[in-house]
Amino acid sequence: MWIAFSISALIGLVAGRGIVAEASAHRRNLPDRWWDPLCEACDTSLNVAMTSCRGEQHRQGTVSWLTSLVTAALFGAVSLAVPSLAVLPAYLVFSGTMVLLTLTDLDTKLIPNRILGPATILASGLLIVGGFISGGGSGLIRASVGGVAYFGVMFLLALIARGGLGFGDVKMSFLIGAFTGYLSLGHVVVAGVGAFLLGGVVALGLLVTRRSSRKDAIPFGPFMTVAGLIAIVVGDAIITWYLR
Ligand SMILES: [Zn+2]
Repeated sequence: MWIAFSISALIGLVAGRGIVAEASAHRRNLPDRWWDPLCEACDTSLNVAMTSCRGEQHRQGTVSWLTSLVTAALFGAVSLAVPSLAVLPAYLVFSGTMVLLTLTDLDTKLIPNRILGPATILASGLLIVGGFISGGGSGLIRASVGGVAYFGVMFLLALIARGGLGFGDVKMSFLIGAFTGYLSLGHVVVAGVGAFLLGGVVALGLLVTRRSSRKDAIPFGPFMTVAGLIAIVVGDAIITWYLR
């Protein structure tokens, strides 16, 4: 178990660097870049810890190195939460995608198709293979149900909200519903309800502290990604607590 944890955390540390590179490429409208993030000021590579660039030693924002650390911790936690090591690769791809889409949505209020599309195919493919290897056929059925259910609910909400909810959020909900659904349908509920609870709390906080006005649109995607990850890592504990 601790071997899987350590290896996953290490992969997360490396994946974090790729996530920073791709998020920055997306923010600056550059071609995809899955490795070697560049300095925003002078376009030279960053040092290993991503605290400054190798060229003129420009200091980089905390988001860069923090992303790597958070991804490492997340990957480690996910390795402890998966029901079988056979589906761990799928869950790591899913989790990395969630971190990346959180960054792109916060940066540009977009869930880019060019990231979500390939990630959905890769993560789903790995989940299907891992599910069959570990004999989790019922998990795969739950994953399909969870994906379709979360997608359906978000699709209806997007129709009702008329532009208040981006279609990127709707498309992303399938992936989150599938990966929480593989664990249990309760996990899908935790992810969905959690997104709205987190969104409400943060929106209220921003209003109270006057950091946003009622008219500002707050992207909903980050609440969906974060709640989805929370559901996967501690969903069991939340469900047990709620049903107690
Ligand atoms: Zn620089």
